[in-house]
Formats: sequence, structure tokens, C-alpha cells
Amino acid sequence: PISMNDPIEERRICVCVRKRPLNKQELHKKECDVITVPSKCVLLVHEPKLKVDLTKYLETQAFRFDFSFDETASNEVVYRFTARPLVQTIFEGGKATCFAYGQTGSGKTHTMGGDFSGKTQNVSKGIYAFASRDVFLLQSQPRYRNQDLEVYVTFFEIYNGKVFDLLNKKAKLRVLEDGKQQVQVVGLQERQVSCADDVIRMIEMGSACRTSGQTFANSSSSRSHACFQILLRRRGKLHGKFSLVDLAGNERGADTSSADRQTRMEGAEINKSLLALKECIRALGQNKSHTPFRESKLTQVLRDSFIGANSRTCMIAMISPGMSSCEYTLNTLRYLSKEE
Ligand code: ADP
Ligand code: MG
Repeated sequence: PISMNDPIEERRICVCVRKRPLNKQELHKKECDVITVPSKCVLLVHEPKLKVDLTKYLETQAFRFDFSFDETASNEVVYRFTARPLVQTIFEGGKATCFAYGQTGSGKTHTMGGDFSGKTQNVSKGIYAFASRDVFLLQSQPRYRNQDLEVYVTFFEIYNGKVFDLLNKKAKLRVLEDGKQQVQVVGLQERQVSCADDVIRMIEMGSACRTSGQTFANSSSSRSHACFQILLRRRGKLHGKFSLVDLAGNERGADTSSADRQTRMEGAEINKSLLALKECIRALGQNKSHTPFRESKLTQVLRDSFIGANSRTCMIAMISPGMSSCEYTLNTLRYLSKEE
């Protein structure tokens, strides 16, 4: 059992990477695994290169993270080192955010637990569910039990710069910003929940809504950001907020040269939002007063999570281990690097 009394770290931003195992198709194609995780903070990419005389060699590049998880790490272990330390933040009246970033097929939805299809994964074994379980665990502890905190969830999708409510038949919602720079998603359904099972029902409902009407070949879920939020309210007033975001596939940002106009526009929007996100997280880490949150709908909606002394963020980058994904994997790893 995990104790909730472990000291929470003071760091505001945590950047991690998770490598998934080679899947059946990749094994069938005898694809090479080009990723190794030699220690708990380092990840190596062994990129095959050709010499002038056409002999092959491996060029190894090293990347450093707060945590790196290899293919043997379970969702529960990943959770324990990433989102779990943030649960307490919302009880202390803060904003916590956890992002799953990476290429389509790298394991974002698997890690978050938004894969409801049943055949591949149980919703109750993902970060959404683990975080919800621990929220109820903390709520029942002596120091929070008498604080009248109520738990609500929301689940929405941002697709091509527009917000859709996954707990209300994908209703299209407007985002408004008032004079005090408070951002509001008008009409977003908030469902009160009183146990982890309630939450799991909401996750299943929202996940089913997210993927409804999609064919595998033209899956819009890889082009949308899904945001699941756990809200703590006291007598109606917002106390803390945990946003768990399954981001659009970052390779879609490269669709800007597609022949299809709609695809190009969606690609440009994804690109813009992922760049804005990087800037906002960086601003949070450096305690900057200016946060470029208006650059995209995603960062606008999450605005209050990028400011304030009690905001904390965790970014989990998912990577595919196969050689054919190498270029995208390197793009993902570079996006996260602290330099530049
Ligand atoms: P994404 O959401 O990034 O597009 P998915 O989460 O849908 O990717 O993962 C693609 C496939 O790989 C799914 O079938 C999923 O179950 C599987 N998968 C992803 N990560 C893992 C993992 N760590 N262990 C086992 N299977 C995984
Ligand atoms: Mg997904």
C-alpha cells in the first residue's frame, strides 16, 4: 500500500519519460528496440546510422529526466512517481496538472487509463483512476475529513481549437475570459462523485464519447487533447483542481504539409498548442510573471494552473521503442529538454 504521508517535494515541475514495450506487430516485423534505460534518470537512444562505406553503426544520444521508466514499469509505478505527489497539492488549495505527451501509439491513453475498449486495458488501472482513488483516500484522512470538501469531475476535449464536453454528448462549449483574466468554460458539466467507482463510470462514459463515431484510420482522438479534471469544492467555492491531460499526438503537428486543408489546419493548431504549452510550463518553472497562455485554447483553458505559488506540473513523455519511430522519439525527447 502507498502511504499518502510521504513528504511532497517542493519542485514545481517534474519531467519524466516512459518507454512502452515493443508491440505484437513490431515484434512480428522484427523491429529493433532502439531505447535503453540504464538508470532511473537517464534514457538512451541508439540511432542506426550508415557510414560512407555503407557499414552501419549506432549513434547513442543520452537524455536526462527526473524519472525514466522502462518497458517493465507498470502504470501504478509510473503514477507513484509522477501524478501521485501532486494529489496533496489540491488539498492544500493548489492547482496540479499532469500531461501525457508523445506520438500516437506511444501509450498516452494507456497510461492515463482513458482506454475504455476493455480488450486492451482496464480503466481502473490508469492514472485517472489512481489519482481519483487517492483523492478519496486523502479526503477521509483526519486532517481533511472535517473540511467540507466535495469532489467533482469534468471531462472535455479540445479539438482544432474548440472545446467539447465529453460528459455531455460532445456539446460544443464557449471559453470566456472576464476582466480579471479568469477563464471559464461556459456550461461545462461538473459531476459530483463520492467514490472511486463513481469516477470510473465517468471516465468510461467520457472515453466512450471521445472515440464515438471514429474509424481507426481517421481517428480524431489522436488530434485532440483530452482533459480530465478532479475539482475540490468547499461550499461551492473552488478549492483545488487536478487536470490530467492526454495530449494530441505530437507527430500531428507535422501535418502542416498535408495535401488536405483540414488536416493542415488541425496540424497547425496542434503545433501551436504544444509550443504554447512548453512556454507556459517553462514560465511556471522559472516563476515568470508573464505566461503566454492566450496562444492556444489548451493553455487558455488551463491558465490558472500555470500561475500562482501553489501550482505544480508533471509532464510524462511516452515513447515507442521501435527503430521506425526513432525520428519522432527524438522529437519528443528534444521537446522536453531543458536547454535551448
Ligand atoms: P496513444 O494514446 O499514445 O496513441 P495508446 O495508449 O493508445 O497510445 O497505446 C497504443 C497501444 O499500445 C495500445 O494498444 C496500448 O494498450 C499499448 N500500450 C501502450 N503502452 C503500453 C505499455 N506500457 N504496456 C503495454 N501496452 C502498452
Ligand atoms: Mg490516445
